Amino acid sequence: MSPTPSGRKLGQLEKLPVSELRWVGNRKRGALESMGIYSVLDLLTHYPRRYADRTNAVAIDALVPGAIGVVSATVQRVSLRRLRGHRSIVEVVVDDGTGEMRVTFFNQPWRTKQLVAGREVALFGKVDVYRSAMQMANPVVEIIGSAQARQTRRIVPIYAQSGRAGISSIELARYVTEALARAGEFADPLDEPRRAATGLVSRTEAFHAIHEPETMAETVAARRRLAFDELFRIQVALVMRKRAAAADARGISHDVDARSGVRLVEDFLAALPFALTAAQSRVIGEIRHDLASPEPMHRLLQGDVGAGKTVVALATLLYAVQGGFQGALMVPTEVLAEQHHLAAQAMLRGLEVPDPRRLGGRRPIAIELLTSRTPDSARARLHESLRRGTADILIGTHALITEEVGFASLGAVVIDEQHRFGVDQRAALREKGSAAGAEGHDPDLLVMTATPIPRTAAMTVYGDLDYSVLDELPPGRTPATTRWAVDDTVEAEAWSRVRAEVAAGHQAFVVCPLVTAGSDTVDDDGLAAPGTDEFADADFDDGRLFGAEILNSERRPPRGAVDEQARLLAGELRGLRVGLLHGQLRPADKESVMAAFRRGSLDVLVATTVIEVGVDVPAATVMVVEDADRFGIAQLHQLRGRVGRGADPAWCYLVTGDVTDEAAKRLEALVESNDGFYLAEIDLELRGEGTVLGARQKGRSDLKLASLRRDRDLVDLARDLAGDVVAADPTLAGNPLLADELRIFVGDDEAEYLLRS
Ligand code: ADP
Ligand code: MG
Repeated sequence: MSPTPSGRKLGQLEKLPVSELRWVGNRKRGALESMGIYSVLDLLTHYPRRYADRTNAVAIDALVPGAIGVVSATVQRVSLRRLRGHRSIVEVVVDDGTGEMRVTFFNQPWRTKQLVAGREVALFGKVDVYRSAMQMANPVVEIIGSAQARQTRRIVPIYAQSGRAGISSIELARYVTEALARAGEFADPLDEPRRAATGLVSRTEAFHAIHEPETMAETVAARRRLAFDELFRIQVALVMRKRAAAADARGISHDVDARSGVRLVEDFLAALPFALTAAQSRVIGEIRHDLASPEPMHRLLQGDVGAGKTVVALATLLYAVQGGFQGALMVPTEVLAEQHHLAAQAMLRGLEVPDPRRLGGRRPIAIELLTSRTPDSARARLHESLRRGTADILIGTHALITEEVGFASLGAVVIDEQHRFGVDQRAALREKGSAAGAEGHDPDLLVMTATPIPRTAAMTVYGDLDYSVLDELPPGRTPATTRWAVDDTVEAEAWSRVRAEVAAGHQAFVVCPLVTAGSDTVDDDGLAAPGTDEFADADFDDGRLFGAEILNSERRPPRGAVDEQARLLAGELRGLRVGLLHGQLRPADKESVMAAFRRGSLDVLVATTVIEVGVDVPAATVMVVEDADRFGIAQLHQLRGRVGRGADPAWCYLVTGDVTDEAAKRLEALVESNDGFYLAEIDLELRGEGTVLGARQKGRSDLKLASLRRDRDLVDLARDLAGDVVAADPTLAGNPLLADELRIFVGDDEAEYLLRS
């Protein structure tokens, strides 16, 4: 980057209130502010929504009746005729210099205010002949200027305007024109050689061309450059955050080679009833490398449902334990915590750790469970053994961070199903580690998500973490055949499939969106019920990257699990052993229902989304999801992951009534694909970036132009360039322009943290 580029800095424009512009008086300033435009920078980054391209306009004397045309003309006369019954006709005559045309609007009396004489408009519509003259009825209208300030531009920017605030697109264009003229040349953080190498236009060119293009092609190049800038600032911040975290940290160099002679990982892997997949071996290798290094690990592991993340998590914790540290695994629900605890106890049975206080100098590895419902007496004992170091691995819900849990020497932390947790909770767990952990060291951190997110989104949201992918399922899986039961025939098939599978010795899940019909509480198994004091709502939303949600639907009220169990027992599933599981049951009841289902003394489990994550019962081969249109793609994919875990064929039925087009796209995607990474792309496509970025991106870094879908190459480019820049100048001491922009877009606090030398 060039030393200090000259020219207008964004920081200067940010400090300049819009009222400094000649045309912006007090009233308009208020109106602009109500649209979120306070500074000249806000104004210049209020980009046109689209353009009226008058280069395509047809002259009125060349119009052909019956054709769809665009006419660009000036309003001559307007009249309003009231008809009986509150009906009205507005008649407008426009002229483009080649002739006049009549335009009529039915029942839109407000058009007389919009189409005043002298205004220049673009009209899109079908041309007819009426009384031997050309006319358009109810065309689409775009106001593009006024005859006084006659727009000579052939491409006119159309801004998001605000009727309520009383600011029109034309006024915005006028303010922007003045702002651009007064701004002059922009200082450019990308010097000429970099621009040439990346094919990006200069910032000056970009700002002019996005607002006042000569050709449509120019707007494409301009958008690219400005979108790049948005992504680049985010990536610079992420790369710096990553470096800063590494520089601050005092990590542990774990005993991955078992020099102590305690070979927990090796013994654990050797005792597994299966061989690791190549992906599991590779990822465990990556983690092993991080753990050995004295810098603490900050790694994100993405893996599709059923890819075998638990084994990777346990190996990670065991590396810490074999060197004499403790490990913690945090999961989002109690059901999952209990299940992981059972699974870990079974898989780690027989492993021993040194204990000089014991006869023989060894004792069995101790794996403990902590949830918010652990009884007080057990909890006190548990706290004690964590402090003394006689508990090796702690598995639990967010109770891990909300309680006064102190560790003797916490060495590694794994967070499962990260999408259900917030960033702040992740930070809290790590801090707990460094405070209570091994002599003030930072524990290594592995964050796992079972809900894949598209690569570009992962780079933008988790770009400060290293990244591993489990992109392979264990062999012998039969992916579930998914059917969308939009009519009764398929729904009938679903229930007969359940009966047939149960007859064959298998099991089934029935999932309902609610606990009881008509209530509007989403069941979350004690996870961050919004409004509880355990979590602020903001945390919940933040963590819920593609998490639980109940989507609106216009049809009948959603089914509740309680009512559905009763209905099925009396109807379609009469004679079967049908259990009920939801988050409002008492913990002991939940546990016993789950246990009964696991050992096969229940045929069918009617449940809420408490079973969404992680529940592992290989004999379950059918799932029926009721009101499936109320769930998001990621959640349905998670739910479906509960079946198809064994070698037997499996089915997933998505039962709905009539659905919206959006919902239909989601359901079709699930029918079509079992690939979580592919589905994540579709989800991003359907839902846009807002949901992905969530509260993770604080400050002003909203993506206004950049799209994580369309601009994948720009995300890569931004990442590469950010890496180069920060490597050459870690605190941006020699890059004041970029440092200044970071302050504007990531917020002062974050920037202070990142930029301090
Ligand atoms: P997830 O990645 O969804 O958390 P799990 O860790 O729950 O997946 O694993 C799903 C199932 O696959 C479990 O029953 C687990 O024992 C099994 N499994 C894990 N790794 C392998 C493997 N390499 N070969 C066969 N089965 C495996
Ligand atoms: Mg899992």
